[in-house]
Amino acid sequence: MKKLTAADSLVTINHYKNILESEGIACQIRNEHLGAIMGEMPFVEVWPQLWVKNDLDYDRALQLIGEANSDESPGEPWRCRRCGEENEGQFAACWSCGTSL
Ligand SMILES: [Zn+2]
Repeated sequence: MKKLTAADSLVTINHYKNILESEGIACQIRNEHLGAIMGEMPFVEVWPQLWVKNDLDYDRALQLIGEANSDESPGEPWRCRRCGEENEGQFAACWSCGTSL
C-alpha cells in the first residue's frame, strides 16, 4: 500500500478512484468518514486519502491523476451568449441561466 494523494473533497478522491479502477489499478480510500471530527485535527490530516494497493501501480496511478487534473484545469473566463453573464473557465455551462458553453 502506498499513499497516492489527498484532497479536501471526497468527491475528488472518488473521481480519482474511478479513473484508476477503470485502468485496472486497485486502490482504497482512507479517512472517508473522518469529516465529522474536522476541527479537532489539523485539516490536512483528516482529508480523504487515496492509496494504491500495489506499490508497482504507484507511478502509473500518479500519472493518471496528473492527466485527470490537467483535463480539468480552468480555462479562460467566458461570457454567456444568452444572458451575457461572465463565467469562470471551469464551468461548462452558464451559472446564471444554464446555457452550455
Ligand atoms: Zn447565461
